Amino acid sequence: RLELEHVSRVYDGQRVVDDVSLSLAPGQVTCLLGPSGCGKSTTLRIAAGVEGPSSGVVRIDGQVVADGTLTLPPEQRNVGLMFQDFALFPHLDVAGNIAFGLSVPKAEKAARVRDLLTRVGLTGYERKYPHQLSGGEQQRVALARALAPRPRVLLMDEPFSGLDNRLRDDVRDATLDILKEEGTAVLLVTHEPEEAMRMADQIALMRAGRIVQVGAPYNIYNTPVDKDAAGFFSDIN
Ligand code: ATP
Ligand code: MG
Repeated sequence: RLELEHVSRVYDGQRVVDDVSLSLAPGQVTCLLGPSGCGKSTTLRIAAGVEGPSSGVVRIDGQVVADGTLTLPPEQRNVGLMFQDFALFPHLDVAGNIAFGLSVPKAEKAARVRDLLTRVGLTGYERKYPHQLSGGEQQRVALARALAPRPRVLLMDEPFSGLDNRLRDDVRDATLDILKEEGTAVLLVTHEPEEAMRMADQIALMRAGRIVQVGAPYNIYNTPVDKDAAGFFSDIN
């Protein structure tokens, strides 16, 4: 479980994340949704430990991993990361990329890689190199890599952008299947309402650094908190 409590972040005197509180349950996808520049990626980076909060507390499974003074780095948080520029390691093959952060015996590693590849629909791709893969295939390998160490929390920043529609649906579906099976808590950042409606168990609507509404997609869509929130969803049907 990931919890943000009253998290703020100030840059150059400007509060780009403003008193954000959020709780993510295991096996649930929470979409952080809002317009460009509202502070989504900054919030995610704070959850990841790439950055520290100016104030507030971040907890993972009850343990404080960041407050105003201490910030544990991502590798000490049991979090998986998948960003928009998900860059695979070009000099490692697919198996090497997925197994990169795994410190388990060799046989177990190979079995885990095989299992993940099957689940993202890339059986037999172990020996291929990133440059031999399509964008969608690379993205699925990045997903497998993020999930390999069985993180309790998976943090994704616009992970499906840059894919065409059909591929995006495929990768989204594969992602949801795996996450539900593994019981991972997910924070997914997106500026597309449609993506949030599709993926989320819970949507947190963000504007100018603040969370203005949290709820099930259905509720947010049907009962937007104000005109801006309603307008944000008006393009989809
Ligand atoms: P987008 O949808 O465009 O990715 P976002 O919601 O992810 O937007 P953030 O990247 O979190 O937005 O940025 C929020 C605000 O904080 C922006 O105004 C940005 O310019 C500012 N900001 C982000 N990182 C820094 C930084 N390292 N130094 C100063 N300002 C920053
Ligand atoms: Mg962003």
